Amino acid sequence: MSVLLQDSFLSLQNDISGLSITEALKKLYNAFPEGVTFSTSFSYEDQVITDHISKSVPVSIFTLDTGRMFPETYSTWTRTLERYGLPVKAFYPEEEQIQNFVTTNGPNAFYESVELRQKCCYIRKVVPLKKALEGKAVWITGLRAQHSPNRGDLQLLEWDETNRVIKYNPLLHWTTEEVIQYINQYNIPYNALHDRGFVSIGCAPCTRAIKSGEDFRAGRWWWEDAGKKECGLHVHQTISK
Ligand code: SF4
Repeated sequence: MSVLLQDSFLSLQNDISGLSITEALKKLYNAFPEGVTFSTSFSYEDQVITDHISKSVPVSIFTLDTGRMFPETYSTWTRTLERYGLPVKAFYPEEEQIQNFVTTNGPNAFYESVELRQKCCYIRKVVPLKKALEGKAVWITGLRAQHSPNRGDLQLLEWDETNRVIKYNPLLHWTTEEVIQYINQYNIPYNALHDRGFVSIGCAPCTRAIKSGEDFRAGRWWWEDAGKKECGLHVHQTISK
């Protein structure tokens, strides 16, 4: 981390502690007017954050369109545009990379091995994410501690060494019930798959509904070992004060 960004990070950690989400967004936006960006996958959590952005400051919003998303996700995207009128910039895989991968391995190679699944995620998500975060200082995400055990030690504001940005996780300590209550209270458009047992929603071939009592992430890459269920977008490091 550059000394300048590290100083900003440490002072922002103090500044946003105890603030509401809209107040924290304003603080971050004032610190980096062009440098704050929010990634949405139109999940429950991301819809709550979009609603907060609509009530505070015009931070840029982007999504990673992997080309394998559910029709219901595209429908949520459309309804979000209708509701908020906020531009959502789409980032896509590099054509040559995805063409070579599919030509060599076929369209559903992710079922064959963890390596091929991670390669697919890398091409369809990680590379576009790097492009989306170019020149940005703060990346806002919908991560929650409840999502999975390896997200339990996330911080509200943390340094992402891989992407070299400050990461802000405003819903970190929200429970699922609180998220749903907010969605209902403000009549926010949400992905219809949530009503059919889908909780964490990614690409269509790699996401299934979960049964009562199953882990939050059980519906993602369900054929793999539970310990490997990240797509490479969120790599966690902690920086202490
Ligand atoms: Fe590919 Fe599945 Fe990863 Fe989507 S979630 S990028 S389809 S492996």
